[in-house]
Amino acid sequence: MLLASVDYTRPATVPEALEALASREGAAPLAGGQSLVNVLKNRVASVELLVDISRLEELRSIEASEGSLEIGACVTYDEIDRSPEIRAGHEIVSRVASHIEDQQIRNRGTIGGNCCLSDPTNNLPPLLIALGATMNIQSGSGLRQVAADEFFRGYFLTAVEPGEILRSISIPALGEGAGAGYSTLSVASDSKAIVRAAALVRGNGTIDEARVALAVVGPVPIRHSGMEEALRGGAATADAAREAAEAIGEDLEPIADAHGSTEYRRQMARVVARRAVDEAIARGGENG
Ligand SMILES: Cc1cc2nc3c(=O)[nH]c(=O)nc-3n(C[C@H](O)[C@H](O)[C@H](O)COP(=O)(O)OP(=O)(O)OC[C@H]3O[C@@H](n4cnc5c(N)ncnc54)[C@H](O)[C@@H]3O)c2cc1C
Repeated sequence: MLLASVDYTRPATVPEALEALASREGAAPLAGGQSLVNVLKNRVASVELLVDISRLEELRSIEASEGSLEIGACVTYDEIDRSPEIRAGHEIVSRVASHIEDQQIRNRGTIGGNCCLSDPTNNLPPLLIALGATMNIQSGSGLRQVAADEFFRGYFLTAVEPGEILRSISIPALGEGAGAGYSTLSVASDSKAIVRAAALVRGNGTIDEARVALAVVGPVPIRHSGMEEALRGGAATADAAREAAEAIGEDLEPIADAHGSTEYRRQMARVVARRAVDEAIARGGENG
């Protein structure tokens, strides 16, 4: 289906973009357009004015400082994959971006679009939650910060209000003894995920801090506090990870569909969570 007629503007600065977004009720930011344009073509949603933010320099920078990162919302997956700063500070962010299907999508799709779409199957949201990222949201009245844990509010719904844009994402340094891991179970190697998990583990033989995020188990990615508590204070071992994954119980109620029942998805959530924690422990050991 062809795109219905829609107004388009490409502002030169962030303030101009915010002004354009405020100028009409039906205005929406256009980043990589990989999801939004498809949605418009399929008439699933309508937009009156597309405000193209994809080339705004203020949203396209990558800043690194002592292991922490600030990634502009319009940095593409391919740029994240190739960035020496991101590879050095948070190799896992580059790796996960490099697995987003396929190269055409990676050339255009942006980290901000991946988050603002809030599609529960998207790759980056659970990772950003596990890493303790902060989402920097810009409006005409200033910048506000929302923890990644609180950013995703529902299917295709985030903390970004109409008239605002996600400006950048800050990811704290991993620090000594910390490692991150990520694991996905997909329907097939190049298709939608059945369940994803991302983990951050900090410690030195004993786990001091654990963050475990699960995705594709509900409308938004969630942290599993039961598994985190089971890990905290315990040994940083594969056995401890396996045992802690058993804390994922009936509190998790993934929606059943053609690819798996609720119980199957719950069991697979335990598997990917354990794998993500195993990887985080191993990488933390290298980082000690
Ligand atoms: C064939 C195909 C395969 C895909 N495979 C994967 C995959 O394997 N993994 C994966 O994670 N994703 C996948 N996607 C989704 C893809 O990553 C999208 O690009 C992404 O979800 C949206 O990013 P975008 O930059 O294209 O945003 P757009 O499509 O431009 O925007 C998406 C939404 O976010 C809003 N938005 C965008 N940026 C901002 C901002 N800075 N501030 C406020 N609002 C903003 C827009 O208004 C719109 O509502 C796939 C998409 C397609 C078409």
